[in-house]
Amino acid sequence: MHPTEPQSRLVLLSPLAGWGTPLDEIPDPVFAGRMMGDGLAVDPTGVTLHAPCDGEIVALPDSRHAVTLRSDIGAEILMHVGIDTVGLAGEGFEAHVQPGRRVAAGERLITFDLDLIARRAKSLLTPILLVDGCGFTVVRSSGNREIAVGDLFMEIARTEEASRRGGAGEPGCGSAPGKIGQARVRRVRIALEHGIHARPAAQIAAALKGLAAEVRLTVQGRSANAHSTVALMKLGARNGDEVELSASGGDAGTAIEAVAALLAGAHQGSSSPRAAQRSPLARSARHFMAATASVGIEARADAVLPGVIASRGMAVGQAVRLTVREIEVAPVGAGVAHETSRLDRARAQVRIRLRAAHASASGTAREIAEAHLELLDDPGLIEEALALVAEGASAAHSWRQAIRGSIAALRALEDPRMAERADDLLDLERQVLLSLSGDAGAGIQELPPDAILLAEELLPSQLVALDATRLAGIALAAGGATSHVSILAAAAGIPALVALGPVLRRIADGTPLLLDADVGQLHVDPGTERLAAIRRQLELQSSRRAAEREAAQQDCYTADGSRIEVFANVGSLTEAQTAARNGAEGCGLLRTEFLFLERETPPSEAEQHAEYQRLAEALAGKPLTIRTLDIGGDKPIPYLPLPGEENPALGLRGVRTSLWRPDLLCQQLRAILGVRPYGQCRILLPMITDVAEIRSVRAMIEQAREQIGRREPIEVGVMIETPASALMADSIAEEADFLSIGTNDLTQYTLAMDRGHPELAARLDGLHPAVLRLIARTAEAAQACKRTVAVCGGLASDPAAAPFLIGLGVHELSAVPSVIPRLKALVRGLTVQDCARAARQALRQESAQAVRKLAAEWAGRQGVPASPGS
Ligand code: PEP
Ligand code: MG
Repeated sequence: MHPTEPQSRLVLLSPLAGWGTPLDEIPDPVFAGRMMGDGLAVDPTGVTLHAPCDGEIVALPDSRHAVTLRSDIGAEILMHVGIDTVGLAGEGFEAHVQPGRRVAAGERLITFDLDLIARRAKSLLTPILLVDGCGFTVVRSSGNREIAVGDLFMEIARTEEASRRGGAGEPGCGSAPGKIGQARVRRVRIALEHGIHARPAAQIAAALKGLAAEVRLTVQGRSANAHSTVALMKLGARNGDEVELSASGGDAGTAIEAVAALLAGAHQGSSSPRAAQRSPLARSARHFMAATASVGIEARADAVLPGVIASRGMAVGQAVRLTVREIEVAPVGAGVAHETSRLDRARAQVRIRLRAAHASASGTAREIAEAHLELLDDPGLIEEALALVAEGASAAHSWRQAIRGSIAALRALEDPRMAERADDLLDLERQVLLSLSGDAGAGIQELPPDAILLAEELLPSQLVALDATRLAGIALAAGGATSHVSILAAAAGIPALVALGPVLRRIADGTPLLLDADVGQLHVDPGTERLAAIRRQLELQSSRRAAEREAAQQDCYTADGSRIEVFANVGSLTEAQTAARNGAEGCGLLRTEFLFLERETPPSEAEQHAEYQRLAEALAGKPLTIRTLDIGGDKPIPYLPLPGEENPALGLRGVRTSLWRPDLLCQQLRAILGVRPYGQCRILLPMITDVAEIRSVRAMIEQAREQIGRREPIEVGVMIETPASALMADSIAEEADFLSIGTNDLTQYTLAMDRGHPELAARLDGLHPAVLRLIARTAEAAQACKRTVAVCGGLASDPAAAPFLIGLGVHELSAVPSVIPRLKALVRGLTVQDCARAARQALRQESAQAVRKLAAEWAGRQGVPASPGS
């Protein structure tokens, strides 16, 4: 985009929770006929209308039932709550804004009384229209699906043609109504070995998705909605049973044929290996294998379990298993509309979390998230819960009853295949109830002092909720060393091991443990003498660390006088403060995606600016490198759900996501550019693969600079974290002001190993010679263009890697704050000449293990400890 060209496209976020509905379905010819403009309606479940984009309120009548917003690019959006609501004369509406007020995307505009409107207005349908004549057209909209506030809603574009025609959108864009067809009935005999169990039930429901048809199955007098996996399973239909299929709707014929084919066993046994991988049966088989794999490996006293180091250090403490508490619910509700909307909101929140978990997880965890997502939207469950709500029960009670009823019905079938689904249902019950309780504390576990937390997997939000002062260490059965939660643990200085395997389940609560995350071992009940010796060692370590901390405030030079800057990676204000205390000479990487992790709506420009300003102040004038939002792949964020992707690590990630949502990027750039004093902040771009991406962002930076009236330029750096960017480092270095190597992703993409994969965690090593060669190439390219080159990936926090990185020409290490004093002490004992020799040798090695061996030998000769904890 050229700086002077007006922005031509805009993504509108959903202003209201509910069901996205084509305008054609509005019982009002003015809206249905698009006489006021094109767009999409929402059948609301939420009660608050939010701004779909940044802009200014241009109209808000006294009746407060509608509001018009002019976006920053000139498009006008009219939001009209309900049909014929002007007659309510403001009753049941509360406005949070006034005409002339600027608003940010996601800000509250109007809150309304859903019950009252449902009783008194013609319809609740709320049209969101692109006002006719404003020179824009709708290019994409998300009709016919459930939407949450902040979801992708509509994309609009400026077209010359539309400007000439007055901005009318393409009629019917994304909003073709389903045709009403004839009802059909057909009888088929089930030819499925195990009847309609979990897998065929899921296949039937999946086959009907997207078809305009209502389908029911009737077996021996029992009938079920075919769109509901749970209802189908509860039928208990067996092989050989005769089934009556009845369908209505435009696609009735297609739907009936699809279901009949599945019941006749058309897909039985013919599933692809991939489908087999995803099937509930395959999942239960693998759960079983995982559970039984630990049998025979006793986590007895004296056992030493090998794990992968996620956050270095040692901890002595007692085993505490991650637990979840039973949630109490009130049986009686506070009105049907209120409870319905609460349930919808809670499900929407869980859906956001599950989608995020699904995108970031792999293997079993991913499959579980997938299964939960399916069940969350199961029409049978929802129908049952809503029926209870209609009888006056609370949302929480209704949801619990619907789930428990299904579990009982599944168990009554006495089919082990069905029982596996019961656990999924219980888990889902808990997730929705937690959301409904609105009490974050309901999920928080109290820890005893010196707790070593044992869990299968840990979510970043779960870690953040725990009391860090009592958490001595973390031991996970699954997980990866560079996963999100590992990064957070390292940042907090909590020693952590991952990929310890299912044997972890056999350690009883309260067992004394020694977690040695310097060598990668968990010692189970190592005996009082050994524990006492370790405690003494830890005390010695802590006095050595105190000395290192004292020296850490001074600048860092090698023994032969080369300046090596030691910066910090930061993801919060607290970490920035710790970094400054630990002697960081600046921040080499601010992971902005971590700043608003718990939010479900995007932070406004003002909120972002305020947070960056606080961080800059915490660093007292030292450089602050702010990386633009790096989400996608293993880093989903709830407030920006991404489209489902087959392979998220290779999909919308880093700068690609930002260029896909230029509105959010522009906001972030303005927020960064506004930080004072000018010159303290620099911008870092993640996941760059070529210079075109840098040029696009630079153009937007120029535009943002103009918008806020800043004349001073800002430095723009590029993350080298894909093999493409390392190989293109020469041309990238010409376009960028500095380079920063992200070894976490560079290693993942070079070795083609998922950074969160537990089985590959031990082999995912940034000291692999292939990765070192890419670093060498990047450093050479940077040197040729006189650009600085930093390492901000996990390798910079690994003392074994420091000599090699310095030897390859890296002059800035950006590490986790807790490691900085140790790292500075280590660098002060090195000479660049020795490091260069060591690096040349490393490049010639055959494997990462060989490089690690070299590092250990080299450290032994130099008399430096190879790890911060040793
Ligand atoms: C990296 O990939 O090394 C990096 C620093 O980025 P992140 O870990 O945030 O993906
Ligand atoms: Mg990265």
